[in-house]
Amino acid sequence: MENFDVSDMSNALKESTGNESTLPTEAASAAREKGWTTPERYDYEKYTATVAPLGPSHNNGEESLPEWAAQAAKYEWRDDYGDVGPENPALEEQLYRGEYINRTGLKIGNLQNIEVIAESRERPSPVKSFDEAGLHPIIRENIRLCKYEVPTPIQAYTIPAVLTGHDLIAISQTEKGSGKTAAFLIPVLSQLMGKAKKLAAPRPNVADGYDRTIHAVTAEPLVLIVAPTRELSTQIFDEARRLCYRSMLRPCVVYGGASVREQQEDLEKGCDILIATPGRLLDFMNKAKLLSLRRVKYTIIDEADELLLSDWEPDFRRIMSGGDVNEDADHRYMMFSATFDKGCRQMARRFLAADHVRVRIGRPGSTHLNVDQNIIYVDPAMKNQCLYDLIIAMPPSRTLVFVNSKSQADFVDDYLYNNKLPSTSIHSDRNQIEREDALRAFRTARCPILVATGVSARGLDIKNVMHVINYDLPRAQHGGITEYVHRIGRTARIGNEGLATSFYNHDHDSELAPDLVKLLLETNQKIPDFLDSYIPADRVVKFEDDTDEENEEKDNDGDDADDAWGGASESEDAPAADSKWEF
Ligand code: AMP
Repeated sequence: MENFDVSDMSNALKESTGNESTLPTEAASAAREKGWTTPERYDYEKYTATVAPLGPSHNNGEESLPEWAAQAAKYEWRDDYGDVGPENPALEEQLYRGEYINRTGLKIGNLQNIEVIAESRERPSPVKSFDEAGLHPIIRENIRLCKYEVPTPIQAYTIPAVLTGHDLIAISQTEKGSGKTAAFLIPVLSQLMGKAKKLAAPRPNVADGYDRTIHAVTAEPLVLIVAPTRELSTQIFDEARRLCYRSMLRPCVVYGGASVREQQEDLEKGCDILIATPGRLLDFMNKAKLLSLRRVKYTIIDEADELLLSDWEPDFRRIMSGGDVNEDADHRYMMFSATFDKGCRQMARRFLAADHVRVRIGRPGSTHLNVDQNIIYVDPAMKNQCLYDLIIAMPPSRTLVFVNSKSQADFVDDYLYNNKLPSTSIHSDRNQIEREDALRAFRTARCPILVATGVSARGLDIKNVMHVINYDLPRAQHGGITEYVHRIGRTARIGNEGLATSFYNHDHDSELAPDLVKLLLETNQKIPDFLDSYIPADRVVKFEDDTDEENEEKDNDGDDADDAWGGASESEDAPAADSKWEF
């Protein structure tokens, strides 16, 4: 599965939509001729088995259920290692040189131009290089192994802010490949690496032979990272495995849907960095022998707005305060969020120190210059045919197809499969092992076409997604343009180019049209004729959510809304609201 030149793909697209359609039945062999791999039949038995999944390593290499993402290999520390553990070439190969690890693309320059605004009472100076950031030598070396040459804009601000002991809120309307995960992991891990021996809980020498009945410990993490989706949490775990290499910091991930027993057994081997989805975390917090948050020094909430939306708010206080047992007087908090709406502002006020640093990352438009966006008018009855023609016209490449409902995901997946295209699908009615396997099949290009609902694909970071197709555009009331931006952000990650094609029709999509046209204008895309009437007369782009609301007067609880910010320095430091998002 290669990277293709996006201009080739765009040309193929134009040719395809100008062509007479071929009937899929007649064209069944076309997929092979065009170079698409043979589709795989869905193996129902494999997923209805009641046993926990076993990887080939547990099964003499025979075909078996895939391994849970939480079971992925990590560096196991021994007490006699001194300050840095010895190299482990096999693990290094897996962590840093695996074929499917996302690589920085050629367009990293565009990414470096993303506008970042940092605000705080003391404005942090951004770091220009990892060398000047004063990082611990182990993490510096791991960054090198990751091949990260320069900090991304968000990292340039978060690294010094966290290293100087500030709480942080980062507002990024697009979580598209901005390097956000490393932005919190690098400074936090760097700070802990020098002190881990002193701070971390005792743990068994796993590499020396481990017997659960004798050696199991209570997990007492130093860092707690909460993320809304299972996929996002396993991606954070993967990044943590890379950045913790050769250090004693042991990352673990726990999330719903996957085997409780295996996650428990992993925690019992010791855990310094705990990455968790909220439901499973709360379950485990109720088992005092298994997990204690008393040592937590850093709590990081990723996609805080998503968590608040999903009604986790009542549990937040418990999670944020370390389950009422936290002993660290100097507990640091970091929040990452796509919006800074009322719920997030309240959380920030409640938990973040008054001198916290606030970083805003430029509007999505500016970060999506790498995506070539095409909107084509498709009659709803012709969507399948059009999808088929579109895919078959493209050189084979990883293609993500978005639909708006679970049943539609199954339906479109079946349609493609029946037309001999190698597709798979993911949505929230699938069990966790099916979801992980679908993602693995997509990542490894066994099934290079993935049909997904927007929710299930949130935050996915997959190498070489060349084409995102909005079979259904997001509804204006359900995510709207923000969801569109999230979706097209699945391609063109970290400086790569990408193509997004959306099927539009006036019956279903006209409510989205005004914002869609604004985004197309903002990102210098061609506006198709059928959307002409939505072009603002002065062609000036202004989004409703551009307002900077943190200056609201009084909050419900009667607090001064600015209490986290203080008066004079706030107005001096913070640029006028409308200057923040203009281009
Ligand atoms: P994220 O925004 O955290 O989902 O990161 C997206 C991708 O960027 C991941 O594949 C990271 O491995 C990669 N990445 C993070 N930081 C850097 C950097 N400084 N330079 C190049 N790639 C990076």
